[in-house]
Amino acid sequence: MRETFLPFARPDISEEAIADVADSLRSGWITTGPKAQRFEKSFGEYLGVPYALAVNSATAGLHLSLLAFGIGPGDEVITTPMTFAATANTVILTGARPVLADIDPVTLNIRPELVKKAVTPRTKAIIPVHFAGRPCEMEALEEIAEKNGLVIIEDAAHALGASRQGRPIGAPARERQAAVFSFHPTKNITCGEGGMVCTVCEDAAEKVSVLRQHGMSKGAWNRYAATGTPHYDLLFPGLKYNMLDIQAAIGNDQLTRLQSFNARRRDIVNIYRKELEDEPGLLLPPEPSEGDVHSWHILTPLIDIDSLGFSRDEFMAKMRQMNIGTALHYQALHLFSYYAREYGWKRGDYPGAEFVSDRIVSIPLFPAMTDGDVADVIEAIRRICRR
Ligand SMILES: *Cc1c(COP(=O)(O)O)cnc(C)c1O
Repeated sequence: MRETFLPFARPDISEEAIADVADSLRSGWITTGPKAQRFEKSFGEYLGVPYALAVNSATAGLHLSLLAFGIGPGDEVITTPMTFAATANTVILTGARPVLADIDPVTLNIRPELVKKAVTPRTKAIIPVHFAGRPCEMEALEEIAEKNGLVIIEDAAHALGASRQGRPIGAPARERQAAVFSFHPTKNITCGEGGMVCTVCEDAAEKVSVLRQHGMSKGAWNRYAATGTPHYDLLFPGLKYNMLDIQAAIGNDQLTRLQSFNARRRDIVNIYRKELEDEPGLLLPPEPSEGDVHSWHILTPLIDIDSLGFSRDEFMAKMRQMNIGTALHYQALHLFSYYAREYGWKRGDYPGAEFVSDRIVSIPLFPAMTDGDVADVIEAIRRICRR
């Protein structure tokens, strides 16, 4: 048994990032400014997308993307039940109604044929989630969107570094489309908290840019910098979702490390796969489709609760007893009381998501894990499953 607790995820912040945060703190300019601009520029260049807009979380990015494409009261937005609550909450906050389409219990991604069935005359958008970093079937979803005049907002919180058939996730080709990344501490790169909205749509980019700063036509940097003008117009009642330079200082350094981070994630997944492939107590997720790149944000085996005779929650408690952290991504959305009450969703509605929701667990996966840490996790899982 390990002497120290191994968390399921832990950020890896370099001394350079710490020094650049200190540089911001000492500079007299700590809010949105040149470092946030640089982060947007490098991020857009990395993905090959013309507009990358930094915000203070992916939740903010989803909310702004929906608003920028005019989603609001009376509209329906189709999404997956196997996601973080923010995906549906931001839809609700615009006044629109979230509509769920079930997942494929193997890929854990939304099933395009069920999205097609869920489309009504009120449908305005689809929010696919690239679960764990596995790209969704974008061609099928884009075809449905084209046929029905729908916006697509990709919840790409897990998918930085992933690609679908040679196209990076986050560089959508369609005008009426955006992708949103998260820089929460558990994600593939972090800023503490942060997010990025990526799109080719100039109009949507402009709206996101204005709405993240109160709806003002110019940001503070433009107003207070030596060359700025003090005047601004108020174009919409906006929000306060801008990213600080303090955050961007971390993000700029993290982005330069993304490839090595993701390569290490990939290596760790390979070790788990080699050692746990034949373990009957759990089922590892499959490799991505030929031609796709998975970003392995999380590794989420399904616990075989039927043969083991204990629940996923008990599995998590046993791991905790062995000093190993796990996490639950996610309880299916329709099983939370708010949505059940508000939309009448209930157990039985989305069987694919329910099957997964009862069995899924995230085991430790982060770039700074040592091979010894990985071996400890494997040993703990073997001991628990053999009981
Ligand atoms: C993390 C996450 C979010 C929210 O990201 P924040 O940056 O914490 O707002 C949204 N959707 C999914 C699928 C996530 O994993």
